[in-house]
Amino acid sequence: MQPFLTSKLPNTGVSIFTVMSVLSAEHDAINLGQGTPDFEISELLIELVNKAMKEGHNQYTHRNGLLSLRETIAGKINFLYNNNVDPATEITVTPGATYAIYTALTTVLKPGDEVIVFEPAYDSYVPNIKINGAVPVLIQLEYPDYKIDWNIVKEKISPATKIILLNSPNNPTGRVLDKNDIQELRKIVDGTDIFIVSDEVYEHIIFDGNQHESILKYPDLFERSFVVFSFGKVYQCTGWKIGYCVAPDQLMKEFLKVHQYNCFCCNTPIQYALSNFLDKKEEYLQLGAFFQAKRDHFKNLMSATKFKPISSYGSYFQLYSYSELSNENELNFAKKLTREAGVATIPVSAFYQNGKENKVLRFCFAKKEQTLNEAVKRLLLFQQKEDYPM
Ligand code: PMP
Ligand code: GLN
Repeated sequence: MQPFLTSKLPNTGVSIFTVMSVLSAEHDAINLGQGTPDFEISELLIELVNKAMKEGHNQYTHRNGLLSLRETIAGKINFLYNNNVDPATEITVTPGATYAIYTALTTVLKPGDEVIVFEPAYDSYVPNIKINGAVPVLIQLEYPDYKIDWNIVKEKISPATKIILLNSPNNPTGRVLDKNDIQELRKIVDGTDIFIVSDEVYEHIIFDGNQHESILKYPDLFERSFVVFSFGKVYQCTGWKIGYCVAPDQLMKEFLKVHQYNCFCCNTPIQYALSNFLDKKEEYLQLGAFFQAKRDHFKNLMSATKFKPISSYGSYFQLYSYSELSNENELNFAKKLTREAGVATIPVSAFYQNGKENKVLRFCFAKKEQTLNEAVKRLLLFQQKEDYPM
């Protein structure tokens, strides 16, 4: 007889990205749900991977990541954030950012420790905390501004608080932390034993002249931080699942103990390719303008519909309210749009543990112009069919 498995994550279901992408495929919908660009990635980057494979770089590489890649990452960090991290000891290449976040949490957390999490939150955070026996302390950000009220953060800090988990530019809200947020954070953690895990996968995808406030820019914050990045979001190759974590030497030593017996090292030829590509600054410096144009194009198209935009300052995403279209809950309405309009989105309620409803959906605009055009055409048809008053 099969032994009974007691779930370690009894309240965790199938990721909303899987749910909506499967439904989207079933209905041949345009998938503006999961954050996956639909345009081609750099031909040169593909050639460089190919070249590395042909040159025989097909075996394990260094546990921390290929040294030449770590050195190039350190150069980029110095250029962007004026921080001299040591590539030998302070950078680890990981199979994606999700893995790096999980590893950082697992490195720090013991059962009963508390982690401050802002909701709506990227969906991996809470299960990653719970699997470590730790407790997510949830702070709901209020629609439609989703701004952090640092007084509430102060109130939620307890002797058990071990980590504050940050994500800017934010998925799903498109909000970014500003200098004032950083000052408040500094005051709160100063003199405490609180660590920071900072998910900065959208570091370059920031709009309207805003600057990315990386934790790497602030030595007093960096000394207590694990800062996480994803090449998937820099080079639009989300399926390559490769990223990195940056942390001070002493913290990285512990991170590596977890990493080395879980993954050991990442895909070697991709690391060779990235180490020869990363110094092309224009590739990442133009991302803000590139995606801002997509955000604006989509927003212009959407202005013909009854969806109402909520400002997005960064990331691949913009939230839209559908309160003028339907009273249905977000998941049901997202499913209906997928089936009946042929456009898949993500219900933002999925990013709240209590399923908070605001009648908002997340749209991914990291798509070709023609994809966005066709999606909005379908939304308009749906609106007309439903006979909504225009
Ligand atoms: N964090 C956020 C906020 C994300 O949006 C994503 C992916 N879309 C990740 C982490 C995961 O990145 P990766 O695919 O490199 O694991
Ligand atoms: N980060 C992507 C998003 O927010 C999805 C990644 C995933 O499917 N886990 O859409």
